[in-house]
Amino acid sequence: MLSTMQDEQLSLATLLRYASTFVGDATVSTWTGDGVRTMTYREVGADAGRLANALRRLDIGIGDRVATFMWNNNEHLVAYIAVPAMGAVLHALNIRLFPDQLVYVANHAEDQVILVDGSLLPLLAPQLPRMTTVRHVIVVNGDPAALTAPEGVQVHAYADLIAAESDNFDFPVIDEKSAAAMCYTSGTTGDPKGVVYSHRSNWLHAMQVTSPNGMGLYNSDTILTIVPLFHANAWGLPYAALMAGANLLMPDRFLQPDPLLAAMADQKPTFAAAVPTIWGGVLAALAAKPQDLTHLRMVVVGGAAVPPAMMRAFQEEHGVRVVHAWGMTETSPLGSVSHPPAGLSEDDEWAYRFTQGRFPAGVQARLVADDGSVVANDGVGLGELEVRGPWITGSYYSPDGTQVDPDKFDDGWLRTGDVGKISPNGYLTLVDRSKDVIKSGGEWISSVDLENAVMGHPAVAEAAVIGVPDEKWDERPLVAIVLAEGATAKPEDLREYLASSFAKWQLPERWTFIEEVPKTSVGKFDKKRLRSAYAEGELT
Ligand code: ADP
Repeated sequence: MLSTMQDEQLSLATLLRYASTFVGDATVSTWTGDGVRTMTYREVGADAGRLANALRRLDIGIGDRVATFMWNNNEHLVAYIAVPAMGAVLHALNIRLFPDQLVYVANHAEDQVILVDGSLLPLLAPQLPRMTTVRHVIVVNGDPAALTAPEGVQVHAYADLIAAESDNFDFPVIDEKSAAAMCYTSGTTGDPKGVVYSHRSNWLHAMQVTSPNGMGLYNSDTILTIVPLFHANAWGLPYAALMAGANLLMPDRFLQPDPLLAAMADQKPTFAAAVPTIWGGVLAALAAKPQDLTHLRMVVVGGAAVPPAMMRAFQEEHGVRVVHAWGMTETSPLGSVSHPPAGLSEDDEWAYRFTQGRFPAGVQARLVADDGSVVANDGVGLGELEVRGPWITGSYYSPDGTQVDPDKFDDGWLRTGDVGKISPNGYLTLVDRSKDVIKSGGEWISSVDLENAVMGHPAVAEAAVIGVPDEKWDERPLVAIVLAEGATAKPEDLREYLASSFAKWQLPERWTFIEEVPKTSVGKFDKKRLRSAYAEGELT
């Protein structure tokens, strides 16, 4: 029996129409260093129509890839919604990829157009001649004359291009299963791999992000979107904000703690999202120069395990609630979010808030042991996390149809590469990435547990732990420490500090002090680089 429901496709054109009419007074603002440039969603809708007309004039049609090489700003939001709404496929390029990786993903995705911020032209220009499918470069807020175009590439000024167009675009009806956007994994553990999102997956994911068990967004919110639009869809915030009629505050290129704090002081966002390393920097800046942050009702932190000490510091010293979330490029990315069960005291909530959280109804999750058996969700048994659902990828993008990394998929489930446990009431605690877990004498040591614990020491700004070869035990932990400004600590003190939380055999005997933990292109600890530094004898 079929339902009587209308067959309306979940398309991003519908979201654009809604955002630019019924919640058209909501705004997106870009921080300029001492103020903001603001557009209403009504104006975003009008510019999206103009951009769609312009792209059609450049012969961009359904399914063609349109890339962005941009900071988080107003124009990036316009492209983010206009490109999929017209049926083309948005590909937000990671501006921090190594040149070879950048060229690889642009060619792999067969990008035909790139919108680039003027300030980022010097980064893109040297790589353009190797991007073989690009036909047009559209320079946003910059001088197109600054770019010497390779043969066959036309250069346009964004403002002139869209000024010549009508704001009225007849957005086509798109099958909700067709491609809307693509993102490549940041390559922390290998070559970037392409994930292609559909209109339907983006729509359902945005609904989950707005819901109270997701990020709980309201039309009264101002969302400081620090997580880049090229990092796993900025965790779904752009589409969720359009859906919720919430305001967006975009930091543009001002991503250091001081300018971020200046933007917050001026704009008083109610919500913010970024990886832990950003918040670690913000905490250190606040210690030097205190500032009221109580306008932030919620900060979502994820992309890497959030040190409990960081969550406590935000809550207890600044009155800011940090909510821990887990996800991947492959999962759109919202997987689990750590809202504690109702009815607990603030003290009892912590045990839940430190976990990676609970999965929404749309995401099924299970743990699988090395022998392929499913591990019970008893809060004790460990296994590799596998997930499935309507916004979880079922494969990696492959232009020629050959399977990319088929081992990442297990009978319809995505293998995450993350190892953890799930409690009977559904809370996920990740122990480590399977590649990072330290195998010492046949037992496991969680690099994340050690990092989190040692980062609770007041003298420690950052700590990253890797497994290094050991003749007797196979592997032992090496702790790379960045001391807080002006602080001192000896390995013995730090080891002593850990002694009450770890078994003796887990306590690291190898410590090294470094200037900075190397970071990936999305700001996570880059353990691959730490490992190779160790192998080269640069860490002792
Ligand atoms: P990459 O794998 O290249 O870093 P992603 O941003 O997609 O790119 O990273 C997803 C991975 O990040 C997850 O598989 C997991 O290992 C890690 N991760 C994300 N959120 C968390 C979290 N809250 N706690 C621990 N690890 C996390």
